[in-house]
Amino acid sequence: MQRRGLVVGNWKMHGSTAFAADLARAVADGSRSLTGVDIALCPPHVMLGVVGAELRGSEVALGAQTVSEFSEGAYTGETAASMLADLACSFVIVGHSERRQLFGETSEVVAAKASTALAAGLVPIICVGEVLEDRQNGATNAIVAAQLRPFLESQGKDVLRQAVIAYEPVWAIGTGETASPEQAQAVHHFIRSTVAGVDQATADSIRILYGGSVKPDNAPDLFRMTDIDGGLIGGAALKADDFLRICGSTQPS
Ligand code: PEP
Repeated sequence: MQRRGLVVGNWKMHGSTAFAADLARAVADGSRSLTGVDIALCPPHVMLGVVGAELRGSEVALGAQTVSEFSEGAYTGETAASMLADLACSFVIVGHSERRQLFGETSEVVAAKASTALAAGLVPIICVGEVLEDRQNGATNAIVAAQLRPFLESQGKDVLRQAVIAYEPVWAIGTGETASPEQAQAVHHFIRSTVAGVDQATADSIRILYGGSVKPDNAPDLFRMTDIDGGLIGGAALKADDFLRICGSTQPS
């Protein structure tokens, strides 16, 4: 099954509006020479407007880094999925390990966020991944399955097909430590088999991204693996040249 590559930049809480505009413009310009890959940028919420304006007229999509699990109401500081859609977002990251670890998001909350995103027409990028201790204890698959379960159980097949999953081993995020292509492929294959337990067609078509210290020099070997359909990129997404080189490393699998 041919799945189109997808590379998503997660800018986290970095930059200013001027930095965001420059970076978005550079990515939009550079992306014009790339084919066969979908690209999205996820700036901080307050920069969505400025980045969206720079991306207009390009093929680069806009995404957000998180969303409220509630659709509207008295939730001070939160942002509804409909508001992100209104700002022309197409994607939203949910359940990033920083949200799980630092802000206490449970897999049930992550599933609720993914549901509100899907209902608003956004593609949720659902992040899963184990900490080092889990890996050392041989618990990686069990952890990833448990993180995915509330989402898989709460969605019908047709809706599930709209989502993207990102495997991000926590020990590889922002550490310079990358999972080897074989380690990543093994977990990606496990994730695809888990989705196949719900629906084989969805498992064949759903895009599963790898995240964790992806750089221009390691991206080609990771993206060459059968079940790795692209990347969720943190640090390297803050430099247009590096990010564009990573985007150019995808190939249909
Ligand atoms: C991330 O934050 O999703 C990520 C993968 O970060 P980095 O690429 O910096 O490891």
